[in-house]
Amino acid sequence: MFLQEIGLTNFRNYDQINTQVGPYLNIIVGDNAQGKTNLLEAIYLAAVGKSHRTNRDQELVRWSAEFFRIHLAINKGNSLLKLEITYNLEKRKQYKLNGVSKTKLVDLLGNFNAVLFAPEHLMLVKGSPHERRRFLDSEISQTSPVYFHNLQQYLRVLQQRNNFLKSLKGNQARPELLEVWNLQLVELGSKIITKRLEVLKKLNPLARLIQRRITDGKENMEITYNSTLGSVASLTPVQLTDRFLELLQQNFKQEVKRGYTLVGPHRDDLILKVNEYDVRLYGSQGQQRTTALALKLAELEFIKAETGQYPVLLLDDVMSELDLSRRMFLLESIQDRIQTFVTATGLDYFPEKILEKAMLYKIKQGQIIS
Ligand code: ATP
Ligand code: MG
Repeated sequence: MFLQEIGLTNFRNYDQINTQVGPYLNIIVGDNAQGKTNLLEAIYLAAVGKSHRTNRDQELVRWSAEFFRIHLAINKGNSLLKLEITYNLEKRKQYKLNGVSKTKLVDLLGNFNAVLFAPEHLMLVKGSPHERRRFLDSEISQTSPVYFHNLQQYLRVLQQRNNFLKSLKGNQARPELLEVWNLQLVELGSKIITKRLEVLKKLNPLARLIQRRITDGKENMEITYNSTLGSVASLTPVQLTDRFLELLQQNFKQEVKRGYTLVGPHRDDLILKVNEYDVRLYGSQGQQRTTALALKLAELEFIKAETGQYPVLLLDDVMSELDLSRRMFLLESIQDRIQTFVTATGLDYFPEKILEKAMLYKIKQGQIIS
């Protein structure tokens, strides 16, 4: 699977572009603030349904325009899939697959996958647990619509439960009142944790191998799941549900006092260790960056293993952040295998033999000028 054509209308600083793209390395080159990241953002949005930079779709509409449209032609081996996303200020987002309208995001997911690595992904390692949950959730959602659905449901029930907890504050509340929410919460929550653990089992060796390769065998990475439900790795789904329920009951008073749910997958985290130490706390900047990159490349391999096809790889501004050997490892490992869009302000980062095979797109003020 690879992108064959990209069209943008009124997306960020693009008025209208339509271009064919190459099946392997595509280099997007241009000065600062010309639209390189905007182009990757549009491709990423077509894969996961939302931008990596904002939750507010209206920011993506070109100033003074009223809608944006992203159009992709995806080569699927023996067929061509046309995917179109339109957002207008009144009607929100609408999707079309081969001309057929779809109303739900879940209909879009899975048709086209992309993995993005951008400077802000350093937050995957350095940032709050929220960043790591988001990474894991969006990765699993891309390959499992059921997971995505369960997660949406879970978050909805959680919200309702939290609202209810707030309403109990100061009242003579009894734990039984929460029973309806609790049962739904633990049912969905256990499914989410079980799936996350299952995925981590696959992701862990992939990330470890990639990290060893990038660092020439010097760094050994390990990802563990750190749950607010305690040690969950060896629990069966039923035991997990029981544990979750038990903790909700135990925490009842605290939760009413605070007005929110204290335990569950919405508060779990990943611990990333390099050579046995938590890289968030002890890693150097370079180690943290490499760890984030290894995680992202592991995601790529994971999606390949799950779907049989490599997703499109989007690399924003990473060339300038990596030293020569890590850059070479990266470019060589994707060469002739994975459709990649990489942004850079200049071509100095790319060796001649890589450039020979790449497609070049020069961007200036929202136009592809050559
Ligand atoms: P850098 O090398 O600095 O990362 P870039 O080429 O990646 O630059 P982009 O992030 O793609 O730059 O942004 C290009 C320009 O798009 C910015 O100058 C910004 O002002 C503009 N822009 C952002 N949103 C909109 C919008 N909704 N309408 C019009 N222009 C926008
Ligand atoms: Mg940019």
